Amino acid sequence: MIEALKKHGNDPWDVLIIGGGATGLGAAVEAASRGYSTILVEQHDFAKGTSSRSTKLVHGGVRYLQQGDIGLVLEALHERGLLKKNAPHLVRNQAFIIPNYEWWNGPFYTIGMKVYDAMAGKLGLGPSLHISKEETMKAIPNLKEEGLRGGVIYHDGQFDDARLAVNLAQTAVNNGGVVMNYMKVTGLLKSPDQLVLGVEVIDMETDESYKIYAKSVINATGVFADSILRMDDPEAPRSILPSQGVHIILEREFLQGDSAIMIPKTADGRVLFAVPWHKKVVVGTTDTLVKKESLEPRALEEEIKFILQTAGAYLTKKPTRKDVKSIFAGLRPLAVPGKGKETKEISRGHKIIVSLSGMITVIGGKWTTYRKMGEDTIDKAIMIGNLPETVSVSKDLSIHGAVNHFDPDDPLYIYGTDKRFLLQLIEQRPELGKQLHRALPFIRAEVVWAATAEMARTVEDVLARRARALFLDARASIEMAPEVAALLSFELKKTNDWQLNQVEEYTKLAKGYILE
Ligand code: FAD
Repeated sequence: MIEALKKHGNDPWDVLIIGGGATGLGAAVEAASRGYSTILVEQHDFAKGTSSRSTKLVHGGVRYLQQGDIGLVLEALHERGLLKKNAPHLVRNQAFIIPNYEWWNGPFYTIGMKVYDAMAGKLGLGPSLHISKEETMKAIPNLKEEGLRGGVIYHDGQFDDARLAVNLAQTAVNNGGVVMNYMKVTGLLKSPDQLVLGVEVIDMETDESYKIYAKSVINATGVFADSILRMDDPEAPRSILPSQGVHIILEREFLQGDSAIMIPKTADGRVLFAVPWHKKVVVGTTDTLVKKESLEPRALEEEIKFILQTAGAYLTKKPTRKDVKSIFAGLRPLAVPGKGKETKEISRGHKIIVSLSGMITVIGGKWTTYRKMGEDTIDKAIMIGNLPETVSVSKDLSIHGAVNHFDPDDPLYIYGTDKRFLLQLIEQRPELGKQLHRALPFIRAEVVWAATAEMARTVEDVLARRARALFLDARASIEMAPEVAALLSFELKKTNDWQLNQVEEYTKLAKGYILE
């Protein structure tokens, strides 16, 4: 990638994207697949920010339906269907049950979910149904039975966010794009009349700086969008309001059966999900305004209490702090709302801002709608950058790894068509077939594959975003770190000191995902 950057020299790229989360990667795939010369720079690793910290749902958003944001729900349901079609190895059809404890819940949510089904149209994942108390208990045997009247079952998508990010980066490259992690934008290049001409970046591994010129520059930095907007105009008003959401991971015994639970209205008016994910359960989330953006936000004590107490109110086995395998927080890049609005009322729709300099900033949105955000952003870039007109092809573009038939119980299914390369690695070096830790299914070959084919540069890249060990079981992931560091060090030709330092750094980071 660095060679490709150097070779391009001072020639302007058609499209330059800052930020390697869902939004930036979606724009990179869109631009590259439409034939534009495309480069994306990410300051840390792909999906290091919000895009690895979601609830892992590809959904229309039942909550947005409740709020009457029909346009967003329609768009998201459509995108849900497209993503399921284009990345079937990463998106599963998941049954959700809304347990009903009030007499009016059944008819109310059944009608609501029928509307949801109708809005999805042909791209629906299955019909919603009202089910009896007995059927609800059969589906979720450890649901609190007292006061239960029945349930409403509906379907949505469930996915692996960071794996999708990696596969999107690969899709962009397969279409001729250049994507680079650990390349941070430090300033903008401007013409004498203050039009943006490109960016200055620093390679975070070597400290080497580069100037990259482009006909269109896209700021897709999520909660960091204001820092780039202020490189453009130091007086730029605040455009982002970071809102924190926390999740905990529990063992599957807390949520038996195959269904997820959706609580549409908790005691304080929020939504709570408990969703099966990689043989564990993700429970969350919260919605807390925070003052400062950060790559490593931390859960607040009241958020932890809220999740444990609310989950405990619906489950027969109440989770406690020591049951938490991992806790993680993410920041929603919400667009600054109108006066008097609460964060939970702010639309999750996306917004594209064009600055006087010509820089394009895209904020808000959801993982589910990343493709549409990319399409809208590149349509804007064509206008601003005076690029030749093209038509989007991403609705029918397979994401790297896409395969329709696989065994979801095979721990390597998530690699889709790349699974064969991992098997080849194991054939050549049988020791790579060995599991890294008894508590998690990840094997050594995944580390080698991450380093050689998925641009992983650190132990954290491997354990947090290629294999999701940090998010699934933080303590186990710390125990895996020395072996991962040794394997990586060999593949990346690093020193012993690098290896030791990596283990130390990773351990420090992962401790922040453990609840004492
Ligand atoms: P990010 O992923 O944060 O990416 C921005 C990137 O820009 C970062 O990687 C950062 O390092 C990089 N960057 C910043 N500054 C620079 C610089 N100077 N140079 C280079 N790079 C830079 N959506 C769904 O569809 N389904 C869900 O279930 C869902 N659940 C969610 C739950 C929570 C708690 C949260 C917070 C969000 C959830 N979302 C969900 C929304 C979704 O996760 C976000 O909309 C999406 O991930 C935002 O992606 P992004 O690319 O805009 O931001």
